[in-house]
Amino acid sequence: MSGLRLGTVVRMKKPHPCGGDRWQVVRVGADYKIKCLTCGRVVMLTHDELAKRAKGTEEA
Ligand SMILES: [Zn+2]
Repeated sequence: MSGLRLGTVVRMKKPHPCGGDRWQVVRVGADYKIKCLTCGRVVMLTHDELAKRAKGTEEA
């Protein structure tokens, strides 16, 4: 998956326990930090993990 810039909103295949499936990229680098737009939880993932779990992206 490409185009994972700061601020990109990612849709996940599997919803977060809070019910949300939209996450915003808040840090890029060796690891990516994404924030759940529903509950505000931040998690860190490698690019591969993120690419595997994401269904697609949309503009922020
Ligand atoms: Zn959440």
